[in-house]
Amino acid sequence: MHDEFTHEPRVAYFSMEIALHNEIATYSGGLGVLAGDTIRTAADLELPMVALTLVSHYGYFRQEINADGRQIEHPHNWDPAQWAEPLTARVALTIEGRTVWVGGWLYVLEGHMNGRQPVILLDTDFGDNHPDDRAISYHLYGGDEAYRFKQELVLGVGGMRLLRALDFKLRQYHMNEGHSALLSLELLRRYAYPAEDLRPGESPYDLPRVRELCCFTTHTPVEAGHDRFSYELVDSIMGPLVDKATLKQLAGQDSLNMTRLALNLSEYVNGVAKRHAEVSRTMFPGYRVHAVTNGVHPFTWAGDSFRELFNTHFPGWCHEPELLLRADCCIPDQLILNAHRQCKQQLLEKVSMLTSVRLDPDKLTLGFARRMTAYKRPDLLFSDLARLKALARRWPLQVVLAGKAHPQDESGKQLIELLHRHMHELADDIAIAYLPDYGLDIARTMVGGVDVWLNTPLRPFEASGTSGMKAAINGVPNLSVLDGWWVEGCIEGITGWAVGDSEKVDNGDDAVSLYDKLENKVMPLFYAEDRAGWVAVMKGAIARNAAVFNSHRMMRRYATEAYIR
Ligand SMILES: *Cc1c(COP(=O)(O)O)cnc(C)c1O
Repeated sequence: MHDEFTHEPRVAYFSMEIALHNEIATYSGGLGVLAGDTIRTAADLELPMVALTLVSHYGYFRQEINADGRQIEHPHNWDPAQWAEPLTARVALTIEGRTVWVGGWLYVLEGHMNGRQPVILLDTDFGDNHPDDRAISYHLYGGDEAYRFKQELVLGVGGMRLLRALDFKLRQYHMNEGHSALLSLELLRRYAYPAEDLRPGESPYDLPRVRELCCFTTHTPVEAGHDRFSYELVDSIMGPLVDKATLKQLAGQDSLNMTRLALNLSEYVNGVAKRHAEVSRTMFPGYRVHAVTNGVHPFTWAGDSFRELFNTHFPGWCHEPELLLRADCCIPDQLILNAHRQCKQQLLEKVSMLTSVRLDPDKLTLGFARRMTAYKRPDLLFSDLARLKALARRWPLQVVLAGKAHPQDESGKQLIELLHRHMHELADDIAIAYLPDYGLDIARTMVGGVDVWLNTPLRPFEASGTSGMKAAINGVPNLSVLDGWWVEGCIEGITGWAVGDSEKVDNGDDAVSLYDKLENKVMPLFYAEDRAGWVAVMKGAIARNAAVFNSHRMMRRYATEAYIR
């Protein structure tokens, strides 16, 4: 069944989450969507890969929002048997001294250009396993530290052993974030020299060989954000893969730092935007950190009307998104406006279906949707309600919001409540909808359906951000803080607008800058009698952003720089 994929060498791509489909609960947010776009692009490019993630039987969670604006979490059960084939192979891991059997499911990602890529969904939910161990593959990002470490063991080491049992031939191992870094220890163990070949005191490990095989993409611009486990916890869970001195030398003396481990055992390391790579170099002096700015899968994220428009004007655009460079001069304005109106209509219908809010197709509509957490500052737009109301009196304004907070992120959940309080306060002046249960489908409808995509993170916490790239494909300009990809993507007044100053350390003036930009640039242009100025920015977003910030460009770089060295 998986045999069709084992005859040629592949790149193994490990990620704690992968967004394959709206109903497949193996993702939570940006990291998973990036992983999904990576595999979708590999299918188009026919770049042989095999992706691994956990099956996550109960998913991340389904979000309900109650009358008080409080997030309620429900399990997102899904049935892998409806989507994937069970694999017969099982491999053994030792966890807390018990044998844990790891198996999996084969999901075949079928690209829209007929490419196929195998995705293995790792599973421990077998009758032979202890109930605690069966649960390891239940909840994405759930549980405590020990649960998390066991999941990372199943992903990294279990995944490696299963690939071998299935007879995959592998040329590279790509760790998408540090969660899978334990795979490098399995490689060290596998390629260790036998004791009889060693001189006394000589290390058995072939570090250069393992480094040649590994590449690592880091996504976290703050030291505190990296997974770190105490050796006490590690020792209580994981049997020895390599000797302790070697482990500490590679992963940190005080605790096992997954990022350190991945950095030390990967020949190719990259950050996900130029600014993020700079930040990472400062955080990890002595390592060579490349910059491969993220991209999004063009076909997936273009709305239906834009797919049609691009098919007519730039045949082949979704495989060669560079063709979109011509959007600024080769598509009549009216066709861009018509395509956008269709996307906006779809969003308005979705808003009516999911909420009691009714939006107006002629009003300027701002969109903001992402993980609800403090550094993303979803409340920045609402920091001066009087000014916001005054703006809306001059130029009609409406807003669509969405996003989940991690169940253990209380401040993120409070932000959702705060947004709902603002929505009620503003109800007479500005229609605001909060769409529950943000996921792939809502994202696709939102990024194309709003008029301006807003992002206001606290610098430098946004490693890249990708939703703004999805907006650009649909001719939706960004109004964003200069962090992550927007440092590269923003050409003021041409592809969108900047909020604040990229060099200033202080983020304090960002709200004022946001209101000023809306008042002086965005709103007058949107409501101008002659729409040519507005359409020019829409076209600028397509031509200068979508042509660049797509996953085809990204994957061609990974292929030529990271996978072939
Ligand atoms: C694209 C996407 C994200 C990531 O958005 P950011 O702007 O990078 O925060 C998160 N969730 C979903 C469902 C997405 O489609």
